[in-house]
Amino acid sequence: MENCIFCKIIAGEIPSPRLYEDENMIVIRDIEPKAKLHYLCIPKTHFPLLSADEEKVEAVKRCFAKIPTLVETLGLGDGYRVVINQGENGGQAVAHLHIHLLGGEKLKDF
Ligand code: 5GP
Ligand code: ZN
Repeated sequence: MENCIFCKIIAGEIPSPRLYEDENMIVIRDIEPKAKLHYLCIPKTHFPLLSADEEKVEAVKRCFAKIPTLVETLGLGDGYRVVINQGENGGQAVAHLHIHLLGGEKLKDF
Protein backbone atom coordinates (compact mmCIF):
# COMPACT_ATOMS: atom_id res chain seq x y z
CA MET A 1 0.00 0.00 0.00
CA GLU A 2 1.41 3.34 -1.10
CA ASN A 3 2.29 5.82 1.64
CA CYS A 4 2.11 3.19 4.36
CA ILE A 5 5.21 3.37 6.52
CA PHE A 6 4.95 -0.27 7.59
CA CYS A 7 4.53 -1.48 3.99
CA LYS A 8 7.69 0.52 3.19
CA ILE A 9 9.54 -1.13 6.08
CA ILE A 10 8.32 -4.57 4.98
CA ALA A 11 9.43 -3.84 1.39
CA GLY A 12 12.86 -2.72 2.66
CA GLU A 13 12.35 0.82 1.34
CA ILE A 14 12.81 2.15 4.88
CA PRO A 15 15.56 0.36 6.77
CA SER A 16 14.50 -1.18 10.08
CA PRO A 17 16.31 -4.13 11.66
CA ARG A 18 14.08 -7.20 11.85
CA LEU A 19 14.30 -9.22 15.03
CA TYR A 20 12.16 -11.89 13.41
CA GLU A 21 10.74 -12.44 9.96
CA ASP A 22 8.74 -15.14 8.23
CA GLU A 23 6.41 -15.24 5.22
CA ASN A 24 3.59 -13.77 7.31
CA MET A 25 5.11 -11.12 9.59
CA ILE A 26 8.05 -9.10 10.83
CA VAL A 27 9.03 -8.01 14.32
CA ILE A 28 10.83 -4.70 14.74
CA ARG A 29 11.58 -2.36 17.65
CA ASP A 30 9.20 0.56 18.06
CA ILE A 31 10.98 3.78 17.12
CA GLU A 32 9.50 5.56 20.18
CA PRO A 33 9.44 2.91 22.90
CA LYS A 34 6.68 3.25 25.51
CA ALA A 35 8.32 0.63 27.76
CA LYS A 36 11.87 -0.60 28.35
CA LEU A 37 11.23 -3.13 25.59
CA HIS A 38 8.69 -2.27 22.91
CA TYR A 39 8.29 -4.32 19.75
CA LEU A 40 5.88 -4.24 16.84
CA CYS A 41 4.66 -7.45 15.27
CA ILE A 42 3.48 -6.49 11.78
CA PRO A 43 1.66 -8.81 9.35
CA LYS A 44 3.06 -8.41 5.84
CA THR A 45 -0.40 -7.92 4.32
CA HIS A 46 -1.73 -4.39 4.46
CA PHE A 47 -5.03 -4.00 6.28
CA PRO A 48 -5.85 -1.38 8.92
CA LEU A 49 -8.22 -3.05 11.35
CA LEU A 50 -9.12 -6.36 12.88
CA SER A 51 -11.63 -8.03 10.59
CA ALA A 52 -13.78 -11.12 10.18
CA ASP A 53 -12.33 -11.61 6.70
CA GLU A 54 -10.81 -15.09 6.64
CA GLU A 55 -7.41 -14.08 5.22
CA LYS A 56 -7.02 -11.26 7.72
CA VAL A 57 -8.07 -13.49 10.60
CA GLU A 58 -5.47 -16.00 9.41
CA ALA A 59 -2.73 -13.34 9.29
CA VAL A 60 -3.51 -12.21 12.85
CA LYS A 61 -3.85 -15.79 14.05
CA ARG A 62 -0.41 -16.65 12.69
CA CYS A 63 1.08 -13.67 14.50
CA PHE A 64 -0.49 -14.79 17.77
CA ALA A 65 0.72 -18.34 17.25
CA LYS A 66 4.28 -17.10 16.69
CA ILE A 67 4.57 -14.47 19.43
CA PRO A 68 4.82 -16.94 22.37
CA THR A 69 7.71 -18.71 20.64
CA LEU A 70 9.66 -15.41 20.41
CA VAL A 71 9.08 -14.17 23.94
CA GLU A 72 12.31 -15.50 25.49
CA THR A 73 14.47 -14.27 22.61
CA LEU A 74 12.89 -10.83 22.83
CA GLY A 75 13.58 -10.58 26.58
CA LEU A 76 9.90 -10.70 27.51
CA GLY A 77 10.04 -13.92 29.50
CA ASP A 78 8.97 -12.25 32.76
CA GLY A 79 5.70 -11.09 31.23
CA TYR A 80 4.58 -8.59 28.68
CA ARG A 81 1.59 -6.65 27.42
CA VAL A 82 -0.08 -7.10 24.03
CA VAL A 83 -1.83 -4.06 22.57
CA ILE A 84 -3.63 -3.50 19.28
CA ASN A 85 -4.82 0.07 18.85
CA GLN A 86 -7.87 0.33 16.61
CA GLY A 87 -8.91 3.53 14.84
CA GLU A 88 -8.87 7.11 15.98
CA ASN A 89 -10.36 6.67 19.45
CA GLY A 90 -8.07 3.70 20.00
CA GLY A 91 -5.02 5.85 19.30
CA GLN A 92 -4.00 4.09 16.10
CA ALA A 93 -1.48 6.27 14.28
CA VAL A 94 -0.40 3.82 11.56
CA ALA A 95 -3.25 2.35 9.51
CA HIS A 96 -1.55 -1.02 8.99
CA LEU A 97 -2.55 -3.53 11.64
CA HIS A 98 0.23 -4.18 14.15
CA ILE A 99 0.57 -5.79 17.53
CA HIS A 100 2.51 -3.95 20.22
CA LEU A 101 4.56 -6.09 22.61
CA LEU A 102 5.63 -4.17 25.70
CA GLY A 103 7.74 -5.38 28.59
CA GLY A 104 11.22 -5.59 30.02
CA GLU A 105 9.96 -3.97 33.21
CA LYS A 106 6.92 -3.99 35.52
CA LEU A 107 4.28 -2.13 33.51
CA LYS A 108 1.86 0.29 35.16
CA ASP A 109 -1.79 -0.76 35.43
CA PHE A 110 -4.17 0.96 33.07
P1 5GP B 1 -0.19 2.91 16.76
O1 5GP B 1 -0.31 4.22 17.48
O2 5GP B 1 -0.62 3.03 15.31
O3 5GP B 1 -0.82 1.75 17.46
O4 5GP B 1 1.35 2.57 16.77
C1 5GP B 1 2.24 2.98 15.80
C2 5GP B 1 3.61 2.78 16.39
O5 5GP B 1 4.54 2.78 15.33
C3 5GP B 1 4.02 3.90 17.35
O6 5GP B 1 4.31 3.32 18.62
C4 5GP B 1 5.25 4.51 16.69
O7 5GP B 1 6.24 4.85 17.63
C5 5GP B 1 5.71 3.40 15.76
N1 5GP B 1 6.37 3.87 14.55
C6 5GP B 1 5.94 4.85 13.72
N2 5GP B 1 6.79 4.99 12.68
C7 5GP B 1 7.76 4.06 12.86
C8 5GP B 1 8.93 3.72 12.11
O8 5GP B 1 9.25 4.29 11.07
N3 5GP B 1 9.70 2.71 12.60
C9 5GP B 1 9.38 2.04 13.75
N4 5GP B 1 10.21 1.06 14.12
N5 5GP B 1 8.29 2.35 14.47
C10 5GP B 1 7.50 3.34 14.04
ZN1 ZN C 1 0.75 -1.11 5.01
